[in-house]
Amino acid sequence: MVGNGGAANLHVSMRRVYPASYSIPRCQICGVHEHLCFCAGFPVFATRTRIVFLQHPQEAKKPTNSARLACRILSDASIVAWSRVDPPPFPDDAILLYPSLDATPLEPHELAGSATVVIPDGTWSQASRIASVLKNRPFLRRILPLGNATAWTVRQSDDPERISSAQAAAMALHLAGETEAATSLYDAVREAGRRILAMRGMVRSDPEDEPDLAS
Ligand SMILES: [Zn+2]
Repeated sequence: MVGNGGAANLHVSMRRVYPASYSIPRCQICGVHEHLCFCAGFPVFATRTRIVFLQHPQEAKKPTNSARLACRILSDASIVAWSRVDPPPFPDDAILLYPSLDATPLEPHELAGSATVVIPDGTWSQASRIASVLKNRPFLRRILPLGNATAWTVRQSDDPERISSAQAAAMALHLAGETEAATSLYDAVREAGRRILAMRGMVRSDPEDEPDLAS
């Protein structure tokens, strides 16, 4: 149950480290203050699976965006700007990774070749509208199998389907057997979340309780 009591508990669970600042330049990739940037610490992976983040224009303006970080780590990943009036083209066999009602669980054999996995990137409301506009396009509509997430012990939000774009990419790569790239990407997302919390002057009392960068 979430109510005033829950909000009070959340407040108590955090402690101030140092004052938040909004004037310090941020890294354009990981989104943290430049002196906290950790981009150089992660290797770059070429992957068989091509990840495409279909990015809502509002998402592109945000200082923190997990898709940019993913493209730093995955040399074959890309960001394509979303346009409602002129949706970008994709191959007919591209996989749209979004939990629409008609989506079925993504199977490892579907990622055996050089699959293109398209992930809407924005708030969940924006991603929902993107998926709605694309509903008549010939995508393979897929969701991440929950068993995959559980086996990988990935921390998620209360709704297991509501994870950040980069986390979704990492889980798809894990399912494709591209484990090293998947793990490095997930570690980077987790590290970015940790540093962004520190920038805001807060750390969570539970270090395993990571934020969702998509929010
Ligand atoms: Zn950085």
